[in-house]
Amino acid sequence: MSEDNRIDGKAFAESLRARVGAEVTRLKADHDVTPGLAVVLVGEDPASAVYVRNKAAQTEEAGMHSIKHQLAIDTPEADLLALIETLNNDPAVHGILVQLPLPDQIDDQKVLAAINVEKDVDGFHVENVGRLWTGGDALVPCTPYGCLMMLKDRIGDLSGQRAVIVGRSNIVGKPMAALLLAESCTVSICHSRTKDLEQRCREADILVAAVGRPEMIRGDWVKPGATVIDVGINRIPAPEKGEGKTRLVGDVAYAEAAAVAGAITPVPGGVGPMTIACLLRNTVVAACRQNSLDDPAL
Ligand code: NDP
Repeated sequence: MSEDNRIDGKAFAESLRARVGAEVTRLKADHDVTPGLAVVLVGEDPASAVYVRNKAAQTEEAGMHSIKHQLAIDTPEADLLALIETLNNDPAVHGILVQLPLPDQIDDQKVLAAINVEKDVDGFHVENVGRLWTGGDALVPCTPYGCLMMLKDRIGDLSGQRAVIVGRSNIVGKPMAALLLAESCTVSICHSRTKDLEQRCREADILVAAVGRPEMIRGDWVKPGATVIDVGINRIPAPEKGEGKTRLVGDVAYAEAAAVAGAITPVPGGVGPMTIACLLRNTVVAACRQNSLDDPAL
């Protein structure tokens, strides 16, 4: 299969960010609304700090307000809840994202439930989850929404496609299933207890891997011509680059799978860049809804 079966998530994300930027310009000019995104980071986990910096930089590049709150690792839960309440009531803040994971003294679920559902741009609030599964106006989790956009761009109408998702987390696997079901795919969700996983994968027209196990899905698990979306981000040793060096791989053995797939996302450069672009998109959607404007065509 030629290189053109590679789905370029980086380019796709750039184009989405440009459209988001244009929509922000329009909102400012026509409605005097500047979308604002508040990101809250508790502690100094280096990976989380990098994500938060990237989010802030891209939010500003798109012309939006970026508000960052960095709290100490030992912040009491009550203080974080009080900050969320302040952000909930701030009209300049349209989206609130609390970077996970949170330290042990803080209950994630309690924090997610405290975010105003209309400002929940991560789409993790139970009410947004319920709206997603019942066809309501949900804010949809960013990673699966990015996957869906790339699938629709590549395939067009997804109706009737047999979709297999490996992974059933609340942030990727389950919302991905809800989105594909809403597109009239026939959806299976696989997980660590699934029997005949390889066979289930071979049945897929659309195969989404969200497992967190490096290169677990091999080329001969992929149906010829299938579209493969690799959500996994795994860091593995790369002695060929030098002692102590590492590299990123997905949950799919890329070279093997790319030889049979109709289309496939690489890691890095596939799903990852789309996640932040979708966060910006969700913030603009949230700003429109909070100002009684129609959803933008993003
Ligand atoms: P979780 O650890 O929450 O979920 C992993 C899922 O994989 C679970 O449902 C688990 O099953 C299943 N699983 C684990 N081992 C196997 C196995 N051997 N066979 C079948 N299923 C298995 O992970 P996340 O959903 O949060 O993330 C998945 C991957 O995606 C990670 O690599 C993560 O880094 C990446 N990710 C990437 C993002 C991006 O922006 N690109 C965003 C979010 C995540 P069970 O439920 O039975 O335990």
